[in-house]
Amino acid sequence: MQLERREYIAELFRGRYGSEPQLWARAPGRVDLMGSHTDYNLGYVLTLPISRDTWMAVKKNGTRNVRLHAANLNEDDSFSLDAIEKTSTKKWSNYARGVATVLQSEGLQTDGFDAVIQSTVPLESGLSSSAALECVTAVVFRELGGWNMAAKAMAALCQRAENEFVGVNCGILDQYSSCLGQEECALLLDCRDLSTRAVRTAGGIAVVICNTMSPRRLSGSEYDLRRADCERGAAILGVSSLREVTAEVLAARRNELPEQVAKRCEFIVAESARADSLATALEAGNREAVARLCAESFAGARDLYEISSPSMVAMHKAMQEAPGVIGSRQAGAGFGGCMVAFVDAQSTDDFRDAVDKTYFNATGLRPEVYPVRAATGAAIFEP
Ligand code: ADP
Ligand code: MG
Repeated sequence: MQLERREYIAELFRGRYGSEPQLWARAPGRVDLMGSHTDYNLGYVLTLPISRDTWMAVKKNGTRNVRLHAANLNEDDSFSLDAIEKTSTKKWSNYARGVATVLQSEGLQTDGFDAVIQSTVPLESGLSSSAALECVTAVVFRELGGWNMAAKAMAALCQRAENEFVGVNCGILDQYSSCLGQEECALLLDCRDLSTRAVRTAGGIAVVICNTMSPRRLSGSEYDLRRADCERGAAILGVSSLREVTAEVLAARRNELPEQVAKRCEFIVAESARADSLATALEAGNREAVARLCAESFAGARDLYEISSPSMVAMHKAMQEAPGVIGSRQAGAGFGGCMVAFVDAQSTDDFRDAVDKTYFNATGLRPEVYPVRAATGAAIFEP
């Protein structure tokens, strides 16, 4: 599989640029196992950098131009490193342009190159193809420029590229996950101090992605509205972020908050605590706790944070009825895209077949259902 993918990309490279790529880099997507919208509230997220990733095949071209081919979109773009501007026609190129801009603003050397980008992370589906693209680009610039930078600092710069250049107000979760993945581990990320704890799941529990294949609607504008509600809640409670609020304090002061803000805060405070609890439950192989935490998370996303959608509700039903399921919940920012299930590792085929059938019968949409493994962070590699 890996060799086939390499050859497919190398062939595209030869066709575009007439030579062999000299350098390969990869960066993984991620799924949040627990912790929706907790990152910008500086809470906990249990994140899994996944075996679906973005590859870049590269050759330094000795000029000040970056030439890119996006295989998933069958589109080309190029830009000059001496005058980087945002483009409105090739939105995807802004992720690479943004990374280059931020690196330059840090005084880091950026060199021209030719590249083919290809990803097995589904685009715009909540598994963070955008961060994978940013992080793989940053790794390439670092390698070609011959400078050093630790993974954490790199993640922060990639986040800045998405915030300031692309104009998406995301938290640190996606870039952090893509840069800091470790073999066989999920990461319990504390978004307040950016410390992580590596979490090894007890044997026998598989992580299965269930893509609703229904596009995320309103995800950008609704995302900003949720952030605003959280900021309002924190301001009324007199704290810098919801991370500073315990469930007890929130319960005692709930009546000071407008109802909608109170619901948002309730979800975030509980969801952050659940990320920590799920880490412990997975390490211990405590299936009953995994089931309960996932059920609470799904209900909270639907009823309190209101980021569900009809397709996600239908998918949840399909997952919960399927053989081998331990627990399931939404993933990503909501409003469509991917969900995640914990499944008995012996039963993933039966689980997939049942979800496919039930979900298709309910919605008329063919889902994509596949297990994922933990993956290491963004790096140069030899495929
Ligand atoms: P997500 O990060 O959940 O996949 P986003 O909306 O944040 O969704 O980012 C998706 C966008 O990132 C795509 O619309 C595209 O512009 C860009 N992108 C990500 N991966 C690739 C890729 N492999 N090739 C081209 N563009 C990509
Ligand atoms: Mg994204």
